[in-house]
Order: sequence, then C-alpha cells, then structure tokens
Amino acid sequence: MNILFPVSECVPFAKTGGLADVAGALPQALAKGGHQVSVVMPMYRHIHNAGVSVTSTHLTLQVPLGQQTIPAEVWEAQLFEPGLRIYFIQCTPFFERAELYGNGEGDYPDNDQRFVFFSRAVLELGKALKQSWDILHGHDWHTGLILVYLKTLYAAEPAYKHCKSLLTIHNLAYQGIFPPESMALTGLPTSVFNAEGVEFWGRLNFLKAGLVFSDWINTVSPTYAREIKTPEFGHGLDGVLRARGNKVSGILNGLDYAVWNPENDPLLPINYQSHERKRKLEIKAKLFEERQMFPLENAPLVALVGRLDEQKGLDILAAASELLHLNLQLIILGTGARKYHEYLLNLKSKFARKLSVNLEFNNELAHKIYAGADMFLMPSRFEPCGLGQLIAMRYGTVPIVRTTGGLADTVTEFDGTHGNGFTFADYSAEGLLTAVKRACEVYANPTAWEKVTHNGMLADFSWERSAGEYDRLYRQLQLSARIFKN
Ligand code: ADP
Repeated sequence: MNILFPVSECVPFAKTGGLADVAGALPQALAKGGHQVSVVMPMYRHIHNAGVSVTSTHLTLQVPLGQQTIPAEVWEAQLFEPGLRIYFIQCTPFFERAELYGNGEGDYPDNDQRFVFFSRAVLELGKALKQSWDILHGHDWHTGLILVYLKTLYAAEPAYKHCKSLLTIHNLAYQGIFPPESMALTGLPTSVFNAEGVEFWGRLNFLKAGLVFSDWINTVSPTYAREIKTPEFGHGLDGVLRARGNKVSGILNGLDYAVWNPENDPLLPINYQSHERKRKLEIKAKLFEERQMFPLENAPLVALVGRLDEQKGLDILAAASELLHLNLQLIILGTGARKYHEYLLNLKSKFARKLSVNLEFNNELAHKIYAGADMFLMPSRFEPCGLGQLIAMRYGTVPIVRTTGGLADTVTEFDGTHGNGFTFADYSAEGLLTAVKRACEVYANPTAWEKVTHNGMLADFSWERSAGEYDRLYRQLQLSARIFKN
C-alpha cells in the first residue's frame, strides 16, 4: 500500500518523546513488510545533527495559510531503504528554531500557524508527488487538521480519492487548543466549527478535529484505548471518543531492537546476553563508580528514567517517604517540574548513600541505567504505552509499574513461575510501596529473581509484531466503506 505518514517528530531527526521513537521505527517496519511509506515532517534546525544527509528535492509547494500563500521547499533524507522516503517541509520562519514546540516561556505563540501550514503542506506534497494514496496515517494533534482537509477541501483530489485515514493518539493530554480566530488560518468552511466538528468549548481543537474526521482512531495500547473513553482519562474528549464507538482501537508500540539490545549496545561498557547475570552486575558496579554511589549489601538498585511530572507518578513517589528506608538504592534520571527537582535534591541531601539524582536528559546514562539497575519503577498515573518498561525488560531489569494503559498490557505480576514484573492498581504511595516490597522479597531469592528477569528478556515487543497489526488495520480500512461526515 501507498502510505502517507505525516508526523511532527521522528528519530533520528528530532525528538521530544516516544512519538519520535514510533515515527522512526514503524515506517521502517512497514516498508520491510512491502509497503511504500512516505514520512513527512517539518524541517527543524535539529535535523542537520542526525548524521543523515538531507538534500533538496527542488520541489516548491505553494501553501495556503489564511489569506496568504507561503512557499515551502521540500527536502528529502538520503536513506536508500527500499519502500521508505522521509520528506521535510522547509519554511525558515516557522521551523528554523531552537526547539520544536516552545521554549522555557511556554509553547510558541504561533503554533496554530505553524501546524496549519504543515498540515496544508503535507496535502500539497501528497498531490505534487502524483501518487494515489491508500492510507493517510496521522499522529497526535499536530496532524489532526489534515484529516479534516481530507474530508473537505481535498476530498475531490484524485491523489486522495481512495485514501482512508487513521489517527494515532500517542498522548491525549496534548490537544493543540487555539482561539476561535485561528479558524481563519485554516481555510476550512465555518460549518465545521461546531460541537460535532472541530470546536471545543468555543475554541479550535486540532486533536478533536482529527478524532471527529478520521476514518479510524487508534492509540498505542489496548488498555489506553479503553481508558480514554472514560472521564478519568479522557481529558475532556472521552465523549467524542465514545461517540466513535468501535472505531477506536489499540496497538501496542514496539521497541527498536536495533537500538535497544544489551548484546551489542555500543553505549554500554560491557555487553551481555540473558543468561550472563555476572556481566550485568559488572555494569552495575561501574554505574555505582561513575555516579559516586556506594553499594549496600544485598540492596537492589531501583531506577526511574523519564519526565519528572504528575503523569509519571512523581506525586505518589514523593509521598512514599518509607521507600528509602527499605534496603534498596535508587537512581533517578529525568527532567521536569521544578518542584520535583527541588524535592529530589532535598531527598538526596538526606539519603546521600542511597540515592543518585541526575536532573538532565542523557541518553548514554539512560542506557547504562537500564542495564545496570535491578528494578525499574514506573508508577504512572496514566501511560498510553510507555517505552521504559519495555526497554527495562529487554535489559533484564524488572519493572514495577502501576497497571494503567500500556503498562497494564505489557507487565504481568510474577507468581513464582509466570509474569515479568510487579504491579499495583491503586494510585497511591501505599500501592507503590507494597509492590516495591514484593519485588524486594523476590530479589532476595536468586533463583526466583533469575526467572522473573528471564521472563522479561524473552518477551517479544518487536516492531515487526506491531507493524503486522498496523498492516491488518490498514487492510481493514481499505475494505470498509468510507465514512463521510459533514
Ligand atoms: P514519554 O511519555 O515521555 O514519551 P515513554 O516511556 O514513552 O515516555 O518514552 C520516554 C523515552 O525517553 C524513553 O526512551 C526514555 O528512556 C527516554 N527518556 C526520558 N527521559 C530521559 C532522560 N532524562 N534522559 C535520557 N532518556 C530519557
């Protein structure tokens, strides 16, 4: 199939979160499966640091934006991978900036213009490439409007005549909400600006637009697909999602095993296979040395790597004051809310021997932590899929997670034989502590510990498996009748 895959970030060119990992790996896996995939993303300043040559196609698009028409030059990555193209939409005033979406002061105030422009540019590029598209697969709020255009201004375009659309939600918390005046930028008929369309409490909501107009919606785990239809997880859009009925499904993300593999990970001081526990312990020792920590006898090293905010359960972690009184050591790597930075630094001053706090984004250290730790903590309030627990399992580090979203779909409680981790359901400090204590009990039994680590290391969370599910969904969409709204 011919798949147009617009996305706002993609590894190795630009990344702020898990979305970029998906965009980097899924198209590749689809192309290997025989599809023709064209990824389209904005040409940020960062892409030049990716180590991939990017050249101009000499194609210039005339992109409508409000009353104006703005030129966009199209660039392309030199990949030489059969079936895969990566295009960049160049427009210096919009994308040649220090960050992707905003700076320390908040989101860029012209994000509405930037992503309306990107959306129109994607559709203009789809036309200019003179192809007949089978699937348009958008991601998150940045591409929501594309799905509206497909059903309105571009509905009669030959390039999109047979095109079905899919919107993947990677995180419902980010919706792209703008004042009603932004509608004038879109060129869309005012008839779509209502409660059944793109309007959300008087404002323009890009994500909602995509949810209403796409042929199908999916999210990155089956459990999150069910959760987002409830007020607790719906971020105000649960009603819209319920209205889409069974056209909302979940496909678990995979893990890029080319990047995350302890057997040949170049960022590790020592590589190891699933049975080589001694080597893993050597990495732990090196990590202690590097971080100037002193190992305590029989104490597991518990790690947390990720954004330090409420979504990731930092509030219950902060409330679990008993944690550092247990016989364990804790290493934290992350950046986020200032209050958690302060809390962790304060904790560090009290528990200097037990705690290592690293308030930075550091990919190399992340790899070493995944390999060197014994347990990996993800007490998330909500988690669309989560990569951390998948990486941890791959590295023989046992996850302790709250059973929500993708965590519930990938981590199962260890019962002595089956199961790959430790779980808790109640979003509370007590819930977290009870699970950590259970993990520590099993850790004290080397045979049982070996079993639970093996169970995680041998599980299949590859992209091939996920891409197979996307392939089935695309085929099902092609077969289904086109839903035509508004
Ligand atoms: P998110 O909700 O942030 O997308 P995921 O678990 O899906 O969470 O993915 C986060 C990815 O970013 C993981 O690969 C994780 O290792 C990485 N990561 C998060 N914070 C850091 C950090 N401070 N340093 C290095 N890597 C990080």
